[in-house]
Amino acid sequence: MFAFSSLPGLLAGHLLQAPADPAAEVRHLLLDSRRVGLPAGALFFALRGPSHDGHRYLPALYAQGVRLFVVGEAHELPGGLASYPGAGVFAVPSPLAALQALAAAHRTAFAGPVLAITGSNGKTIVKEWLAQLLSPDETICRSPRSYNSQVGVPLSVWELNPALHTLGIFEAGISEVGEMARLAQVIQPTEGIFTNLGTAHDAGFVSHEQKLREKLQLFQGPQFQRLFYCADQPLVRAAVAELQLPGFSWTRQPNQPADLHFAAVGSSDGSTRWHARTADGAAHEFNLPFADEPSVENVLHCLAVLLHRAVEPAEIQRRLTRLHPVAMRLEMKLGRHDSYLLDDTYNNDLAGLSLALNALARQPRPGRRTLILSDVLESGLSSAKLYAQVAALLPAAGISRLIGIGEEISQLGVRSEELSENEPASQLLTLNSQLLTEFFPTTEAFLAQLNPADFAREVVLIKGARRFGFERIVAALQAQQHGTVLEVNLDALSHNLQHYRRQLRPGTRLMVMVKAFAYGAGSYEVASLLEFQRADYLAVAYADEGIALREAGISLPIMVMNPAPDSFDLLRHYRLEPEIYSFEMLDEYLATFRTLDETTSPAPKIHLKLDTGMRRLGFDEADLPALLARLRTHTAHLPVASAMTHLAAADEPAHDDFTQQQLAAFRRMATALEEALGYPVIKHALNSAGILRFPDAHFDMVRLGIGLYGVDASGRDTDALRSVSELRTTISQIKTLPAGHTVGYGRRGVATETERRIATLAIGYADGYDRRFGNGAGLVLIRGQRAPLVGSVCMDMCMVDVSHIPDAQAGDVAVVFGEGLPLPELAGRIGTIAYELLTNVSERVKRVFVSE
Ligand SMILES: *Cc1c(COP(=O)(O)O)cnc(C)c1O
Repeated sequence: MFAFSSLPGLLAGHLLQAPADPAAEVRHLLLDSRRVGLPAGALFFALRGPSHDGHRYLPALYAQGVRLFVVGEAHELPGGLASYPGAGVFAVPSPLAALQALAAAHRTAFAGPVLAITGSNGKTIVKEWLAQLLSPDETICRSPRSYNSQVGVPLSVWELNPALHTLGIFEAGISEVGEMARLAQVIQPTEGIFTNLGTAHDAGFVSHEQKLREKLQLFQGPQFQRLFYCADQPLVRAAVAELQLPGFSWTRQPNQPADLHFAAVGSSDGSTRWHARTADGAAHEFNLPFADEPSVENVLHCLAVLLHRAVEPAEIQRRLTRLHPVAMRLEMKLGRHDSYLLDDTYNNDLAGLSLALNALARQPRPGRRTLILSDVLESGLSSAKLYAQVAALLPAAGISRLIGIGEEISQLGVRSEELSENEPASQLLTLNSQLLTEFFPTTEAFLAQLNPADFAREVVLIKGARRFGFERIVAALQAQQHGTVLEVNLDALSHNLQHYRRQLRPGTRLMVMVKAFAYGAGSYEVASLLEFQRADYLAVAYADEGIALREAGISLPIMVMNPAPDSFDLLRHYRLEPEIYSFEMLDEYLATFRTLDETTSPAPKIHLKLDTGMRRLGFDEADLPALLARLRTHTAHLPVASAMTHLAAADEPAHDDFTQQQLAAFRRMATALEEALGYPVIKHALNSAGILRFPDAHFDMVRLGIGLYGVDASGRDTDALRSVSELRTTISQIKTLPAGHTVGYGRRGVATETERRIATLAIGYADGYDRRFGNGAGLVLIRGQRAPLVGSVCMDMCMVDVSHIPDAQAGDVAVVFGEGLPLPELAGRIGTIAYELLTNVSERVKRVFVSE
């Protein structure tokens, strides 16, 4: 905590205006206008990024009561300084650097050990497990979820409280050269773990060595004492030696010199036994409750830390046995009775609750918001203080009903008149008299009376500590699923959006295509993410798609590419903007709106489609004189938002000459249009492939489609995109077929001379799984291995050969497409394109949205 008046001594910058309260204290750091639970003592940093500018939120924040601001420069304040009477405003060259410097100053006040974790994989899991394993000995402050970025790290470190915590554990992740040194200054670690060096290509670095060097910069400074690392990675070993980092190494190789030797001595049913020998010759055996390699590596890192701390081996084993897998993701699920569930049932501390409430606040979906909350754990605060903080977080997320489950939170249900003065006063009730509350001592008590219809059409956040077993509540409220789901990773979607955004010059607008159910991914969720990420425009093919988005609460401008002329009135009602591609449509538009009384409700803006070579829809260049004449006559009744064209071969270098002719024709036609109208319009021509291949033709806006969904149609940037959708199903049954038996309809799964194991999967062509994948053309991933299709794809099922995957069993997951099974490859196998596979996934397949 700092006094606002101390900022000039801590940060390079100057005071623009002193706060009305000269003693104002900085208690919270704020980056997002949607997070204001506790405006008093909140200091807002106006960060700038490629896609947003925090200065824009200042008026809204001021209105909500925020009074302390760190900004770029005075002239960036919307409305000028005079609009913020009584606020403290401090100007700095870089608000991000100031955020980091303030967190670094805060960190310096903590005298205890701070452990920093970096590496390519496993950071979050190692952090979570270590926190679980050390929690009996320490009061730990750790980064929430995977808060490991330039912004996430300072926010995490700010939570360190010298009066409360005895240990800090923070993770650090980087994507560019230069970033780690800044994180090191914020964390100032005394110890570190380097998890591993992955083999994945990393866009921001020239080589593996450079990436490793960069990451190891975390472990520097006079305070740094010890790096835990695995000596079995030669590059890591060499770099640690060369940089002379003080290390504590472990190995699984008998002859590798290290401080700690591990050897596997057996495994059974999901667990493995390990022999551990320390440098002084002491030997112990541990049973790890995991058998998969990534989990084993992660837990061996933790074991190294515990052994180095000389925790008793029997005690270590006791704690290991209780270690549980980390599910860090917030999942969004369709509930029964049209409800919508945000499932976050893993941990429940204040930081995690605050993140989950943010996710809820970002949902534009209408409907009452209910929070089902267990006792909040690990806060180290008194019950009264804790629940006062919980209560303060609720209004910003729009919560109107709270269901509290647990002995402690139930105390809040005691009516205030029954409370004595110093009781954990029912702050919750008094602060929010509007809030409906219900309390239950246990999850069982809640389930016993649960009626899912009570949650009809609501948005429900389910947030509970693990021991409350809230997954049972989720199961009771969730809509039925058959074994096939399409999992859409919203973080990957954001990542891809940023990738395309970085290709654009500042000021170029971004329209995102959410037609065809957002390429199969789910239009509402994708659109709501895009609204949050501040895309400029959405586009759909038909009016119905646009109407559905409006009814779900999406407010971005929406272009409708192929509206039926008789839907023009509906378009106006729903503020949808038609694309006009023919004189018939233009006349119909004029007929509908020319007589409209502009003052009550303006006619929708239009987008003029010009055909420059696609030969599909649009005005030809030969139509131009007649079109211009119409525009001149009806200028007042034709509010033109944009002029557009579509390229026929943006992704095919062989046709680049043709593409350039299309672009030249577009330039000519658009210029003539603007002259006739007498005002400039937004000009746009490029789809995903075009954005990457024709940077000179971005004009005023681009139209991003398949690239957002993780498929690089240009073939140039595949590594930079993340896979967004995973279609997966389950094995319903496995049969062992003797030699000579056929499989499926028409006996098309022909007999073989050897025995084989055939798995039946719960997906068929009615789910959108293409029949052409039958008879060996397609394959799926089971336990990481490829299994070919056998016989024809049926309506609801298909069969694969798993003879070479001996441990495959009924209930196993089969990945149909996704990370390890890329869409372009699968599409190539049946002579189609990724677009078709994505958009074919039928609506009966449940969409599950995840976010880290
Ligand atoms: C679908 C579509 C796009 C996006 O194309 P992608 O290849 O998916 O990027 C752009 N413009 C128009 C007119 C479209 O119909």
